[in-house]
Formats: sequence, C-alpha cells, structure tokens
Amino acid sequence: MFADVIIDIQHEKLDKIFQYRIPEELEDKLTPGMEVVVPFGSGNRQIKGYVTGISETCDYDLSKVKNIISISERGVEIETKLIALAVWMKENYGGTMIQALKTVLPIKQKENAKVRKRLRLLLDKETGERQLHYYLEKNQKARARLMAALLDDPVLEYELVTKKLNVTMPVIRALEEQGVLALESRQVFRDPVKKAGGTEQEITFTEEQTRIIRAFRKDYREGLRKTYLIYGVTGSGKTEVYMEMIRTVVDQGKQAIVLIPEIALTYQTVMRFYRKFGDRVSIMNSRLSAGERYDQMMRAREGKVDVMIGPRSALFTPFPDLGLIVIDEEHETTYKSEQTPRYHARETAIRRAEMEHAGVVLGSATPSMEAMYRAKHGEYILFEMKNRSRMQQMAEVYTVDMREELKSGNRSILSRRLQELIQDRLDKGEQIMLFLNRRGYSGFVSCRECGHVIKCPHCDVSLSVHRDGMMRCHYCGYEQPKITVCPECGSHYIGEFRAGTQQIEDIVKEKYAGARVLRMDMDTTRSKDSHEKILSAFANEEADILVGTQMIVKGHDFPNVTLVGVLAADMSLYTSDYRSGERTFQLLTQAAGRAGRGDRPGEAVIQTYDPGHYAIETAAAQDYEAFYEEEIRYRELMGYPPAEQLLAVLISGEDEALLEKGCHYLKEYILRLAAKAGHQGEVRVIGPASPGIDKIKDIFRRVIYIKTERYGTLVGIKDRVEKYIDINPGFDRMRIQFDFNPM
Ligand code: ADP
Ligand code: ZN
Ligand code: ZN
Repeated sequence: MFADVIIDIQHEKLDKIFQYRIPEELEDKLTPGMEVVVPFGSGNRQIKGYVTGISETCDYDLSKVKNIISISERGVEIETKLIALAVWMKENYGGTMIQALKTVLPIKQKENAKVRKRLRLLLDKETGERQLHYYLEKNQKARARLMAALLDDPVLEYELVTKKLNVTMPVIRALEEQGVLALESRQVFRDPVKKAGGTEQEITFTEEQTRIIRAFRKDYREGLRKTYLIYGVTGSGKTEVYMEMIRTVVDQGKQAIVLIPEIALTYQTVMRFYRKFGDRVSIMNSRLSAGERYDQMMRAREGKVDVMIGPRSALFTPFPDLGLIVIDEEHETTYKSEQTPRYHARETAIRRAEMEHAGVVLGSATPSMEAMYRAKHGEYILFEMKNRSRMQQMAEVYTVDMREELKSGNRSILSRRLQELIQDRLDKGEQIMLFLNRRGYSGFVSCRECGHVIKCPHCDVSLSVHRDGMMRCHYCGYEQPKITVCPECGSHYIGEFRAGTQQIEDIVKEKYAGARVLRMDMDTTRSKDSHEKILSAFANEEADILVGTQMIVKGHDFPNVTLVGVLAADMSLYTSDYRSGERTFQLLTQAAGRAGRGDRPGEAVIQTYDPGHYAIETAAAQDYEAFYEEEIRYRELMGYPPAEQLLAVLISGEDEALLEKGCHYLKEYILRLAAKAGHQGEVRVIGPASPGIDKIKDIFRRVIYIKTERYGTLVGIKDRVEKYIDINPGFDRMRIQFDFNPM
C-alpha cells in the first residue's frame, strides 16, 4: 500500500504531493488526514507531513519510493480534520487533491504591514448626545448615523464607517473640522476586530424563539448533534436564536462558525454579534487582504476567537473544538463555489460537523428546495417561525397582468396601478423601489399578447435565441428556427423581452418630473465604492425612487420605502434553468419584503405576463408551502434535484472540432457506465449541449448532464471519467470539470 503525503501545508505554493510506501504494521492504522513522519530529500531528514490519500498502486519508480517512518504522536490536530474534509471534497466534487487542500487550509502569504485609518470621538458622552440631537433636528442623516455609532464605540475603523455605515469622506471631514472627531492613521497589527461598543439589549424571547432554543439545548446536553432548519419569515428573530445557540456552545468552551452572504454582512449585523460576544468575534470578508485573513485564521487556531463570521470560505476556520456551524440565508446561490472543487457550503458544513461532532443550523425565510426536502424527509429538524418578532405587518402584494394592460391600450412598462401608487408615494414624501428582474437573462421568447413562452419540448425550460437565428435548449441541445408568430394565439407581438434599467429610469424621469431618481445596475456600480454610495444616498433620502436590478433587493433596510414595484416578474422564470421557479419565488418574496420595514405598512406591485404561474401566484400570496408543493412535483416529474441528483460535466477547449469529437467519445463512455450502473436505478445522459454561452474568449464549451437517483452513482461515474480522460491522450487538450447539482 502507498500513501500520498503533503509536506509543507502552509506554503504559498502548496503544490507537491509525494508518495511513500506504508509499512505493514501501519496499514490498518493510517487514514487520510493523519500526520506522519517521513524521510525527506537526499539526506533523508525526518520531517512531518500529512496523508492525503491511500492507494494500492504507485506512480513512481518503486525502487526509489521511501517508507513512512511513523504516525506522529501529537494526536489529532485540526489540520488532520481539515485534510480529511478536503479528501471528502475531492471525492464528492471532483478536481485535484491540491485544489481541495488549497480550499480548506489557511495559506500563509507574505505581506507588508498595513497603515490603517480610524476615527476617534473627541467629545464626552453628554456633548456627543447633544450633537447627535442637533444633527437629527437638522435632518443631517449621515452625520447623525456616524455620531450615534461613535457614541456606541468611540473608536471606529475608517473602512467600517465608509463601507458599512455608508458615511462618505466629506461628512467625516466636516465632523473633523467641527472638532467632533479625529481621523488617525496607525500602523496596525492586522486585526479587523474593534472593541465591542454599546451594551447588550435585554430582550424577552418570543414563544417561537423559546421553543427552538429549548429544543436545541436539550439535544445539545444529551450529546446529540443534528442539522436544524429554521424556516422563519424576515424579522422573525432568527439571528437572536442563532446567537443564543452559539452562546450555548461557547459556554461549553467550544467555537462557532456563522456563514452570512457577504451582501448581508452589514454593520448592524456585525455589531449585534460584537455586543454579544465582544472581541472573541472575528469577521472574515472579501475586503480583508490575504494576510489579514491568514491572521484571523491563526487567531482562531490559537483559541483566541470563539465566533467566526463570514461568507462561504469562513467554513474552513481552523477551530480547535468546533461546536456549531450556522448558515444564514441558506438558500443563497453564493454558498455554491464556482471554482473547483465546486462544493456547496451546506453539504460541506454538514460533513465537517459530522467529522468534528458539531451541530448545524440553517436559516432562511425562503428555504432552498434542497433544505426543505431534506427537512421533510427527516434528515434535518424543522423549526418554523411564522410571526415577526415585533409583529409588524407583511406588505400587501398586488399582481398586475400586463397582457390586460396591453389590451386596455396601456403600452407603458409601468402598469396603471403602479403609476398611481408611485404618484401617491411621491405626494407623501415616501420612497419607492423599482426592481427590474433581469436575473440570468438569456434571451427567451415570449408573447406580449398571451404570455406564451417558447420552451424545449423535452426539458420544460425556455429556449434561448442565438445570433444565428436559432432557438436552443441549454440542457439537451434541441433547436428550432426563431418564430415570428405566437403558436398559441397567432399574435405578432412575440419576441425577446428587452427592457433595461436605463430605459426605466428615463421613463420614470419623464413621467414624474421633479422626482429624484437613482439607478443601480452593472453600469452604475463599476467603480469601487459606487454600490455603497448609491445605497447610502438612498438611505439618506437623497432620492425618491431607486431603480435597479436584483442588487437592490438584498441586504439593506430602508425604513421609508413603502412601495416596491417589480417589473417583468416573469423574466427570471425563463432563464433556461430548472431552478428558475425557485429563484423567482425567492426574489419576489425578498422584493416584497423590502416594502414597509419601518412603522408604516408597505405595498408591492408585481407586474407579470404570467400571473397564473405558481411561482408568481404563491410569491404574491407569500405562501412558501404552496410554492414548495408545486415545485417539488415539477422536480420529481422532470427528475431534477433534490428529487434526483444531477451532474454536469463541463468540457472546454480551443479546438472546436476536437471538442466535438471528445464530447462524442465521452458521452459514449458515460452511456456505457450508465448501462453498468443501471442496477442502482436508471441513469440518464443528456447532451452534449451548449452551457448557455458557447464560447468565451475563444474557448469553446459544452456540457453533458447525467441524472440519477443516488449521488453515489454520480460520484462513481465521475471517478471513472477522471481515469478515462487521464489515459486517453486527446483529452489533455481539453479541460473537464465536474459540477454536482449545479446552481
Ligand atoms: P431575522 O434574523 O429573522 O430577520 P432578527 O433576529 O434580525 O430577525 O430580528 C429582527 C429584529 O427584531 C431585530 O432588531 C431584533 O433585535 C428584534 N428582535 C428579535 N427577537 C426579539 C424579541 N424576542 N423581542 C424584541 N425584539 C426582538
Ligand atoms: Zn400569444
Ligand atoms: Zn431540452
């Protein structure tokens, strides 16, 4: 038997794995992840390494392969656990061991110490309070916000103030000139944590919260580590529940990881955790440099941190005694990695928790189909929170049928109802958000008269128009010429839906002269801080209407917004992708949730050509259960996840002819494997097809889909395909990647 051993796991390059022979007496003891002592180099220096794999064959000259000396005596280290996790990820998601290791291990990087700016409050508490009052009276919102934050915490990181508080440099300068604060530069030890400010607010848990916390504690005390799904409407108090659960494990001397999508990692959220856990909290985000991230990881490893908060990658925090992993907004697509290994944070978290005897808590107002499916099948424990913790009303939602608008002679992109409500809000001085749903826009063809959408007869997803005038299916490759007459009603009003945010901005400005309009989309957010600037301007009520793409739906709370308009709600239904219904439901629910966050109740208008579509109907009714039932039936019928498992094999290369040939051989091979695996349940092979975009930077792309019931069957097929391409020479001029249950 032979073992793959990696020597220097902290090295930037981390790219060489060596093979060693396993002495007989160790054969039964050695498992991936273990630390071993091996002879290294020409002098056979004894050094430590970690086992990343075990095999019966050796790729090198047998006479030159050295023996492992011993298993290291240090006991199980955190690295051992993470490497074992990497092994699991490589097996379950494909890619190389090196790629998996680079994903899970903190890698040291050389970097210079940084100069950081921070703000210090120069006033005493009382004077500060007076000043805050003054700003509020003058309606100077940005100044007031900064002042309030400084009163909570007299020293603030500059970054935090500009990025999370949305306060701009001119405001800071103004306060500096008034002698309110000092702007300081300092050489810092790379530590993004600031002191906890303010005091923890006492709250009395609601009945729903209490029930969940009790159940969790009971399991925990009894040594049970489970996966829980908290399905609770926005504002139902999920975050308070997470914090209480974390408190339970931290009190036991264990640590917790909290995954939050980067966009939701707002100043307010972060402060809530600081208030509760003080400087034993660490934050990971994309603004930290590689060096800063490494420092945070090391602090965690040394036991200086109890709670790590961050996006997907924080999952691999090297905690010595992990107790709990929380995944907030678990339905977010950002939890799926787009780089090999294409892991999903949810599954990987559950696996890590299993290996380290920790619990997992998933939370969402619109749980993913996967999570709810597993909860309903008893794999996760389901908790529901139906009420908002402070009993605010949910928004009133109206659906407008745009076909009817057209029939009544209204050709505007704004329905009459939405126009009226916009005017009403402008009159009252309340704010409006207009959201153009353009998610994954892929040129589907629809009829403006009857709403009919042209779909693939085999896959039940919409066909996309290509430049050559053909409409194609991105799953199976089916194609037909573009049509000009609606097959349903004979109308000529059929074509690709085209409307941009720019166009909407123009229309709104023209129609409501004097209204102040801001726009947020790809074009207006190219420069570095523009995203934050637009949102802060809107939060400061410097505009009446914010027009934007899905960027505006998430993350921020605007208490003065009482009307949300969703234009082209159906756009995301036809993204030639089986998750389009789910995404549409989530987007619409979130959009409606933007209205009426403050004291006044909100309204939302959903404009659609397909008001009868279940995703739209159930979103308008804010009825998750009904949506889930419809959607799972569709997934079961079509064999899509979570009912079945789907593997996308992505093949790309510069030589199109060679690629076609490669795809052909690969498909033939997969079909043979599928026939052999047939006893484990039916295996269907679809494609090769275009993955949406046929060519990127002169690299041609194709995809083959494999559907079956058992995930293990797909893993088996992946292993065989990896070997097959390894020994067949033509494939070294192509790149092949695996994507399990793609998003
Ligand atoms: P979610 O995470 O479900 O959106 P949060 O935990 O953020 O909900 O709660 C929403 C707001 O309600 C927060 O300001 C929170 O402090 C407050 N809150 C939560 N639970 C309670 C409670 N039991 N009593 C009073 N306020 C609460
Ligand atoms: Zn029609
Ligand atoms: Zn198809």
